[in-house]
Amino acid sequence: MLALLEVKDLHVEIDGKAILKGLNLTIKKGEVHAIMGPNGSGKSTLSNVLMGHPSYTITQGTILFEGEDITTLAVNERAKKGMFLAFQYPTAIPGVTVANFVRTALKAILGDEKQAVKTFRKLLKEKMALLKMDIKFATRYVNDGFSGGEKKRLEILQMAVLNPKLSILDETDSGLDIDALRIVSEGINTIAANSDEKGVLLITHYQRMLDYVKPNFIHVLQDGVITKSGGPELALELEQTGYLAAETATA
Ligand code: ADP
Ligand code: MG
Repeated sequence: MLALLEVKDLHVEIDGKAILKGLNLTIKKGEVHAIMGPNGSGKSTLSNVLMGHPSYTITQGTILFEGEDITTLAVNERAKKGMFLAFQYPTAIPGVTVANFVRTALKAILGDEKQAVKTFRKLLKEKMALLKMDIKFATRYVNDGFSGGEKKRLEILQMAVLNPKLSILDETDSGLDIDALRIVSEGINTIAANSDEKGVLLITHYQRMLDYVKPNFIHVLQDGVITKSGGPELALELEQTGYLAAETATA
C-alpha cells in the first residue's frame, strides 16, 4: 500500500544548529503513530518541518506525501494536499473570530469553491457539538484569553472542519484536564484515528493520551533521531524505565 507519509534521512537545522539528524518515518493510511521523547529532542521541529515552516532548513533528506516529494512545498500547498498540524503553542489573533478563522482556512483549502455561509455554519456547529464546545466559542477571538484546554480544543475543531488526510498533533494533550482529554481524544478518534484513509502522528510527552487514542506504533525521539520503535507496549515500558533505557537498548 502507498504510504501516506514517508520521511527519509531527514536532517534539519535552525539558526545553524543541527536539530534533526537523520530521521526516518513511514506512516501508512489507517495508522496512528506516536512520537515520544524528552524536552528538546526535536519533536516540535519535526512537526513544523513536516508542515513546511519556513524558519527551518532541510540540509538533507526528503519528505514524501502520498508518494509525492513535498520537501520544498509551501505550507498552504501541503494543507491543500491534506496535511494538518495542531500547534503545541497556538497563537492568539485578537479581532478575528473563531468562526471566521476556521472558515477562511477551509476556503483556502477548498480553493475557489464557494462555501455557502449556511453550509459552513451547520458544519461548524456539528463539529463543535462533537467536541462539546459551547456555541458561544465561535464568536470569540482566536485564542484570545483562551485557557490551555480551550486552545487545544480549537486546534482539534480546525482539524474536524478541515478533515485532513494526515493530522500531526503536537502535544495536544498538554494543558488538558482529564475530562477535556477524554473529549479531545474521542474527537481525534472520530475524526481521524479510525479511518482507513487517514493517518495520525501524535506527538506527546506522556503516556496518558495513548490510553484514549491508541497508536499502532510508538517511536522514541532523542537528540534528533529515532532511537527505538515498537508497538503500544513501548509507552508503558517508557513510563516505567524512562527514555534513558531506550537509549541504552539501542546503543
Ligand atoms: P521538543 O518539541 O522535542 O521539546 P523542539 O523541536 O522544540 O523540541 O526543540 C529542539 C531543539 O531545537 C531544542 O534544543 C531547541 O532549543 C532548539 N530550537 C528550537 N527552535 C529554535 C530556534 N528558533 N532557534 C534556535 N534553536 C531552536
Ligand atoms: Mg515541542
